[in-house]
Amino acid sequence: MKLKDPTLLTGRSYVGGVWTDGPGGKTFKVVNPATGQTVAECADLGAEETRRAIDAAYEAQKPWAARLASERGALLMKLHDLMVENADDLATILTSEQGKPWAEARGEILYGASFLKWFAAEAERVYGDVIPPAAPGKRIVVLKQPIGVVAAITPWNFPNAMITRKIGPALAVGCTVVCKPAKQTPLSAIAIAVLAERAGFPPGVLNVVCGSSASAIGNEMCANEKVRKLTFTGSTEVGRVLMRQCAHDIKKLGLELGGNAPFIVFDDADLDAAVEGAMASKFRNAGQTCICANRIYVQESVREAFVARLAERVRALRVGDGLEEGVTTGPLIDEAAVAKVEEHIADALAKGGRLVVGGKRHALGGLFFEPTVIDGATAQMKVAREETFGPLAPVFSFSDEAEAIALANDTEFGLAAYFYARDIGRCWRVAEGLEYGIVGVNDALPSTAVAPFGGMKQSGLGREGSKYGIDDFVEIKYLSMGGI
Ligand code: ADP
Repeated sequence: MKLKDPTLLTGRSYVGGVWTDGPGGKTFKVVNPATGQTVAECADLGAEETRRAIDAAYEAQKPWAARLASERGALLMKLHDLMVENADDLATILTSEQGKPWAEARGEILYGASFLKWFAAEAERVYGDVIPPAAPGKRIVVLKQPIGVVAAITPWNFPNAMITRKIGPALAVGCTVVCKPAKQTPLSAIAIAVLAERAGFPPGVLNVVCGSSASAIGNEMCANEKVRKLTFTGSTEVGRVLMRQCAHDIKKLGLELGGNAPFIVFDDADLDAAVEGAMASKFRNAGQTCICANRIYVQESVREAFVARLAERVRALRVGDGLEEGVTTGPLIDEAAVAKVEEHIADALAKGGRLVVGGKRHALGGLFFEPTVIDGATAQMKVAREETFGPLAPVFSFSDEAEAIALANDTEFGLAAYFYARDIGRCWRVAEGLEYGIVGVNDALPSTAVAPFGGMKQSGLGREGSKYGIDDFVEIKYLSMGGI
């Protein structure tokens, strides 16, 4: 891997301001999903080092919270600037461990950095309230104070942005953080710590603990009573386990879990825009995002035209190593991911689906998969119920608005939904009818630091980004002042 600044790439964890090896020098391999080659050996930490990181975060928290908000904001801004300055190298590290095309990885670095910028400014706007009293001689004041030590567990699909989305608001309000990135993609997380040290964050304020055993680190995070909040992005299955593990001391929870996003195209939609949107939503990151279109519903009268245009665009995608110029679709993250896409396709075809494009492992071999379109999908197929998390676009049909809303809501998930239509009345009715935390109306790329991201139903708790993202990291304290 060619980096302008090779010091950004290290396999050590960052614990209490100390670059830390695993016990007995234990390491695990980080593998490039495009080549199968080892990118780096990473220190393999466990429960003991996690406890040390939590202790360090606990020690650092009160002094950090006592700093002026403007000082915390300035450090976050410094980290933002360093990330932007080093965006090329950070993108190269990200693509090498995660696989997405380099330009997309660079986009993620800038998107990730934007959370630091947004929350750097919000640090100074954590306002409380003064409430008119309910009794004579009293005054009511509401303070917002940092929750305390935060543990953050993040997935491999956005190795940079899922971390900044959590540390941005946490550090801005005066919390300290211990992060556990996914074992597939620790290097991007560690690179953030390298830059945080350079920016001048005090020891213990931001810690990154990497290890091959998620549960060794996760169990300590959940069991340790010094941790007052757990923020997690990942599967609903693991979210449920963590929620249970956090019940004993009633930790605050932020959960960004799975999705099963419907993408609805009505007969009055701008069809080209809808196809464009479906491409961006479905095939970005090879279909491995939690807000990816998973089920594409197209109104019967425009279905054929939509499928033809979508297929044409899908045929033009270029699969390959994300570090190669012009590649639009990288490998999937691991063999299990490839097997799941294969399983969903086989199931759909067995139940009457029609293969339009793709359908099998790519000729490049390894973890590469052909971008695929299946027409004639139905509610009985696995693709209707489970997140595929891969480059498979199943097209379902529907006849009217009420049916589209009912089909879209027929899932336990409620993260993101999309629809394309022009009629203003229809836009309002459908937007209000969808049981989702994020609704893209003629928009397939809703993610931004300035808006609240999060899910309803089994897609999670809390919101990340925007002023609401601050609320998730503060406690509200009410002072009832008498004798006045
Ligand atoms: P994905 O399907 O995206 O891999 P996961 O929910 O399995 O989603 O993983 C998301 C994050 O949760 C990763 O950092 C992973 O290591 C972590 N994780 C998985 N199992 C546990 C666990 N039992 N305790 C704590 N963290 C876990």
